Amino acid sequence: MSPDGGPMLKTTHGFAENMIDEQESKRSAMLELQHISHNYGAVKALRDVSLTAYKGEFLTILGESGSGKTTILRVISGLETATSAEVIAIEGANVAHVPAAHRNCTTVFQNYALFPHMSVQENVEYGLSVRGMPKADRAKRALEALEMVKLDGKADRRVSQLSGGERQRVALARAIVTQPAILLLDEPLGALDEKLRQQMQEELVRLHSRLGMTFVYITHSQEEALTMSDRIALMCNGEIVQIGTPEDLFDRPNSAFAAEFMGFENIFEGHLKEISDERVSVEVNGHGFHGRWSGHQAPLIGQKAFAAIRAERLKLEGAENHAEDNALKCSAGSTLYRGKYVDQHLQTEIGPMRARIWDRANRKSSISTVSWHPDDCVVTAP
Ligand code: ADP
Ligand code: MG
Repeated sequence: MSPDGGPMLKTTHGFAENMIDEQESKRSAMLELQHISHNYGAVKALRDVSLTAYKGEFLTILGESGSGKTTILRVISGLETATSAEVIAIEGANVAHVPAAHRNCTTVFQNYALFPHMSVQENVEYGLSVRGMPKADRAKRALEALEMVKLDGKADRRVSQLSGGERQRVALARAIVTQPAILLLDEPLGALDEKLRQQMQEELVRLHSRLGMTFVYITHSQEEALTMSDRIALMCNGEIVQIGTPEDLFDRPNSAFAAEFMGFENIFEGHLKEISDERVSVEVNGHGFHGRWSGHQAPLIGQKAFAAIRAERLKLEGAENHAEDNALKCSAGSTLYRGKYVDQHLQTEIGPMRARIWDRANRKSSISTVSWHPDDCVVTAP
């Protein structure tokens, strides 16, 4: 079995994968899901999901709206009973039949779910008083948690007197004060504006390393996932389609879907022509390109494949070229001003492409070829 629970497929990266597999098996699992499926009536929300979160890991579940992210969290926390589940284990103990209140995990929701008539401190203490903790201990723990989220000066405020960002911090403090083994976070920054969101991303990462707790974090934002996570599980339509480090997902998407989700602007369908270890060549509309195989299975000559290249990796006239570069004739189309950079649309014989120009001085009046290095050309299965 591979680390993500799927069958271990032999690929050209077999050696490296085995090494990672060995490393992973040395880490201990905090959360383990095996073969979880869940239906809401006719909707298949989860399809045979298997996932491990290691102790102290920041694991992000990334996917578009409706892909099944919240359902996974609800199954982990016990708010939802999966239609079928082989294993749901926390710290090695199967919790499939343990009610939500007795699972060692807490959820932070996007809508905060705070008590508006209570003070900040009362909100944070609430979970501790439910557990029967004496008042003096409660207050101490609550103030510590509020200090961690930088709200110690606002313990006596009513929640209704707080900004959205501050409310989210109270929700966080209330979740960590009970010291769960796993903190589940369901798009907790979704309601915040851009600047506050970025600031909270950094604070959450800091909080995570200070607490040493296992975080399972949900987002639909690839940028957020890349910035915060130790590993990312990418979901599509109720399935985990790829799991790996941010670098794995960003540089080695294993499917055309993953490449598109991770922001590759140029993706072309073709067929594999040659295979030599990790290097492959792919034919797209009569043109051959060299690239790196990144599919999740071993490549086969003649199979359908996709070549994916990031806009910033395309080289236009005047850029330094290598002998092995892929190249195409092209003509320049419109440009799109994006502030920090300009995107240049190109017409080529394999279709439209988009190149990114960071330095305004590099904008060319005439463009007749576009090229890119084989290392920057990811070739994946469908
Ligand atoms: P995400 O959190 O990734 O947006 P969800 O896990 O909420 O996705 O939903 C997965 C799928 O299940 C979606 O198609 C959604 O419409 C459906 N779904 C979620 N909750 C319910 C429900 N209570 N009843 C029926 N369908 C639901
Ligand atoms: Mg959701």
